[in-house]
Amino acid sequence: MREDFLHYLWRLARFDLRDLRTTDGQPIIIYQFGVHNTHAGPDFDDARLIIDGLRWAGRVEMHLKSSDWYDHGHQDDPVYDSVILHVVLEDDRPVYRSDGSQIPCLELRGRIPAGLRGTYWRLLHNESWVACAGQLTAVAPPVRAVWLQRVLAERLSRKAVTFQSLVNRSDADWEAAFYQVLARSLGGSVNADAMEMLARSLPLRILQKHKHSLLQLEALLFGQSGLLPAAEQQVAPYVVRLHREYALLRVKYDLQPIPATAWRFLRMRPNNFPTVRIAQLACLYHRSGQLFGKALAATGQQELQNMFAVSLSNYWKDHYRFGAEAKRSDRRLGETAIRSILVNAIAPAYFAYGLHRTDERYRERALELLEALPAERNSVVSHWKKLGWPARSAGESQALLDLKQAYCTPTRCTSCAVGCSILNRTDEADGTVLSVNEEARLYQLTG
Ligand code: SF4
Repeated sequence: MREDFLHYLWRLARFDLRDLRTTDGQPIIIYQFGVHNTHAGPDFDDARLIIDGLRWAGRVEMHLKSSDWYDHGHQDDPVYDSVILHVVLEDDRPVYRSDGSQIPCLELRGRIPAGLRGTYWRLLHNESWVACAGQLTAVAPPVRAVWLQRVLAERLSRKAVTFQSLVNRSDADWEAAFYQVLARSLGGSVNADAMEMLARSLPLRILQKHKHSLLQLEALLFGQSGLLPAAEQQVAPYVVRLHREYALLRVKYDLQPIPATAWRFLRMRPNNFPTVRIAQLACLYHRSGQLFGKALAATGQQELQNMFAVSLSNYWKDHYRFGAEAKRSDRRLGETAIRSILVNAIAPAYFAYGLHRTDERYRERALELLEALPAERNSVVSHWKKLGWPARSAGESQALLDLKQAYCTPTRCTSCAVGCSILNRTDEADGTVLSVNEEARLYQLTG
């Protein structure tokens, strides 16, 4: 058993509340369970209790064994002096505050319904892709909808924190932060880190100074990427010109290229090769040095999509890589790639900007954009679909991605609305009873 199960039991009052007593026999009345604290410090704040006729207001701390208090070093942290009740599965050692007073202890062993323990056990020890596979279709649609919205908001809030730290590192320049996020998004799942490294090595203000010359933008980006082939091997006039421009600009701005080994070409479609993506990035900033401003001013999804519909310079129309000629095409950013930018760069940027400005309209724009875009296609979304939870929009596919990463993989089922709804449906009569060995392992008390 893990402590998060105790948090679930307390949060939702899912234990036998009759004749509650501390381990030394004092009656307890709980009239406020408190607010779950997911940060450092005791597990619940602002609980209200009556213990042996005396009213208490304060914090509640939970452990599997009361001796965990000492194992976790709480005796050395004055914050834990404010704990008014220690809730444990098993009381194996008295716990004292720094002033010597004993902290009242409530033992939950024997108060947890057997069916609930069984359902919890099976959730936690399930080898399926997600622990609740097979039970998802029984989750009520409103629970699903509200939970996915919440998970999506959590994902966007986390991305907003990252975006804001980029803004702070860029001297409060939102354009410069957006440039890095956009570059990362253009890199896709394989070259995201390399594209971000490239953007960090080449500040946006330098690109903006040269925005009127596509050749100079390409020289800067390809030169910094480390992908520009050695000058002495080059006969193609375009590549020779890139070299010449980069040599001058590198000295002028004291630039250090990133290593060419940062890039991956293997098992990629040529359209997604980093060389093509870098050429597209150059074209985007050739068209506008203020892409974030344009995105804020855009009046709809179509306008946003048009912003990214650029075609490449002549050389890149018949090359995917330096020196390798290919069938000619305009190598525009495809619809899928543009949607990926809207999902991974524009929507998080709107959300972050809305939080920064405390302007609800931008946050709503982010959510509306994600709701309007079709669901992404990837293996995670396909898995959810097979289990009966198809994504109906990019908002849902983003939420399902996050649900898997942030909840299912670390088995945070007791913090998940789906897990709680499964646990809440369980009662004594559901026949989910543990064997003696399972029971022993659940409590981990036999060793
Ligand atoms: S975290 Fe939620 S969705 Fe994921 S496996 Fe657990 S109960 Fe299912």
